[in-house]
Amino acid sequence: MKITGVETLYLRQPQVRGLCDSGQDALIVKVTTDAGITGIGEVDSSPMAVKGTIEGPFSHTTATGLREVVIGEDPFETEYLWHKMYRANIYAGRRGIGIHAMSGIDMALWDIKGKALGLPVWKLLGGGFHKRLRCYASSLFGSTPQATHDLARRFRDRGFDAVKFGWDPMGRDAKTDIALVEQGRKGLGDEADLLIDAGLVWDAKTALQRVRAFQAYNIFWLEEPLRPDDYEGYRKLSQATSIRIAAGEEESNRLSFLDLMDRGQIDVVQIDLTRCGGFTEAMKIASLAHDRGLVVANHGFTTYINVTAALHFLNAIPNALIVEFAAEEETTLREQITQQKLRAVDGYLAIPDAPGLGIDLDDEGVARFRAA
Ligand code: MG
Repeated sequence: MKITGVETLYLRQPQVRGLCDSGQDALIVKVTTDAGITGIGEVDSSPMAVKGTIEGPFSHTTATGLREVVIGEDPFETEYLWHKMYRANIYAGRRGIGIHAMSGIDMALWDIKGKALGLPVWKLLGGGFHKRLRCYASSLFGSTPQATHDLARRFRDRGFDAVKFGWDPMGRDAKTDIALVEQGRKGLGDEADLLIDAGLVWDAKTALQRVRAFQAYNIFWLEEPLRPDDYEGYRKLSQATSIRIAAGEEESNRLSFLDLMDRGQIDVVQIDLTRCGGFTEAMKIASLAHDRGLVVANHGFTTYINVTAALHFLNAIPNALIVEFAAEEETTLREQITQQKLRAVDGYLAIPDAPGLGIDLDDEGVARFRAA
């Protein structure tokens, strides 16, 4: 089998607003083959930069559009192609956008392999740890502590027993920060798990003060309290608290994850399949985490393609903790661009069993939102 085409589709709602749901636009990657099998992937990054990275021309041997690198190659050779793409785009690709773009192609290649063999991706990865995985409802904070309380109550009423709130208005001042967590806990009740995503707002000492104040509300983890490059801060914070510190969504490729694990001493490694280098790299990151006794969660705020990929991945590693599932009620694009829609049942997501990723584009929905 040979790769015959790589195409990027930029989908966008007429209005993209500052909701938690960053599935309001999407960059989809389609890889076609001479066997008639098409694989899909997604990249959650700066969409047009990804498009350029994939569809751009040959410039020289360390700056080449990724499409040119993989056309004519065998889609089964995912490890070889990962390194070929990395080498061909090394100026822009060692971290960030180049790895992001590679993630979408890698994901599509695994989809092709699964479809060709009639097996789900998790089985190709050697998995089979779970039948279903516990998920948490992922949301922004309400605009006030009271609004956060009401949101928490609604998630609980929808059957979630783990809920995450994040970002603004966290970080304004101590009183607001603590009231947000307090009201989140009140809305959820004592039994459910409450996860807090600070959103890169503090220095290490402020974060430590907050973590001590949040202890009264029994939080499951504290995510991204610091700037992603503040490894020293992460180390000081992690060593000073028994609350799990989670991070990783800003990282691409295993070496930057290693910095977070070894220098930063974080506890929960959050991997976004659409940015970390795809399945090929994610499996290595999870293995490095497992060697260090660390647990892994996905990061995924965009389409059901991202979440579905995460389910395959988390089902293929021994150290999966929980699945992120953006459960905001107000979504448009995400509900319309794939044939399959994911639904949590009693706070769990089922492991997909269809060949490949087991998720297909809805051509009409895609056409409706196609922007480039
Ligand atoms: Mg986050």
